[in-house]
Amino acid sequence: MNRLFEMIERCSTISIVGHIRPDGDCIGSSLGMYNYISDNYPDKRVDVFLEPIMDKFKFLKGTDDIKNTPTDEVYDLSISVDCSDTDRHGEFADIFKNAKNTVCIDHHRSNQGFGNLYYCDPDASSACEVVSRFFDMKKISKPCAEALYMGIIHDTGVLKYSATSEETMYIVGKLISKGIDTQFIIDETFYKVRYVQNKLTGRALLDSKLYLGGKVIASCISKEIFEEFGATKDDTDGIIDKLRVTEGVEVAILGYQTDDNMFKFSMRSISYVDVSVISVHFGGGGHIRASGFSMEGTYEESLEKILDMVSQQL
Ligand code: 5GP
Ligand code: MN
Repeated sequence: MNRLFEMIERCSTISIVGHIRPDGDCIGSSLGMYNYISDNYPDKRVDVFLEPIMDKFKFLKGTDDIKNTPTDEVYDLSISVDCSDTDRHGEFADIFKNAKNTVCIDHHRSNQGFGNLYYCDPDASSACEVVSRFFDMKKISKPCAEALYMGIIHDTGVLKYSATSEETMYIVGKLISKGIDTQFIIDETFYKVRYVQNKLTGRALLDSKLYLGGKVIASCISKEIFEEFGATKDDTDGIIDKLRVTEGVEVAILGYQTDDNMFKFSMRSISYVDVSVISVHFGGGGHIRASGFSMEGTYEESLEKILDMVSQQL
């Protein structure tokens, strides 16, 4: 297991990369790693590269140091967290690719494996849980615990999704023992919504339709709707979770328009449909119960193809 720290000990410059459109688990695992290395290996230089993050995450230590633009620097080591393939490093792909040593720590079932050191557990609740396995609990500082706890909270839907295991709860217990403010982290980063986000959610729920005998619910947010509400893709956060709890539903689908003829789809399932294989089929990825992809075409055309794939599993 601690081949990671053997590598870190041999390197003096380290970069950390996550995935495009970083979510709570991506930010938490990046900053958890950043804080752990900074705290315990003060002689190392560690840089985190992520696309700009939402303000609600900025209470975490290290957010001011996150770099939003790529550099040509060749790092001794680059660590990828919560990222299922190197394309999803986005504009930071070359930082990872050009590093002298590379590590991939992940939990996506769709991960095909990359990096000199590859450790992916598709049964783990979150990248933060996997990252924690490498750490000595006694050496985790409070700021490091805040980042890891936040990521676990986000990827488990507040310790609720089925991947939340005994080990998840053991790690969470250890993180809480560092004196973190759990209620603040849960309310401010997970539950709190902006006013426009509420309006957009309302609209998406109003427009939702049932398919395949009520086992599937789907909704769409077009460019026009984003414009009408003055909303952005960040405001789509949480909508899929409202759709997925509809009685009788096994699969929830949310599509939002990212370009003239392009939609980003999120999929969730409740108990037996593997949405990861559907997303991989359409060029995306993710987990059995939560996945996503982008597809060219109108929403209606794409939805028809998705429903066709879903019906094969129902
Ligand atoms: P979300 O629906 O919240 O955007 O994503 C759910 C899960 O699916 C996340 O774990 C995310 O990494 C994965 N995912 C979402 N969109 C894509 C995509 O376009 N490509 C890949 N490979 N994974 C995705
Ligand atoms: Mn994750």
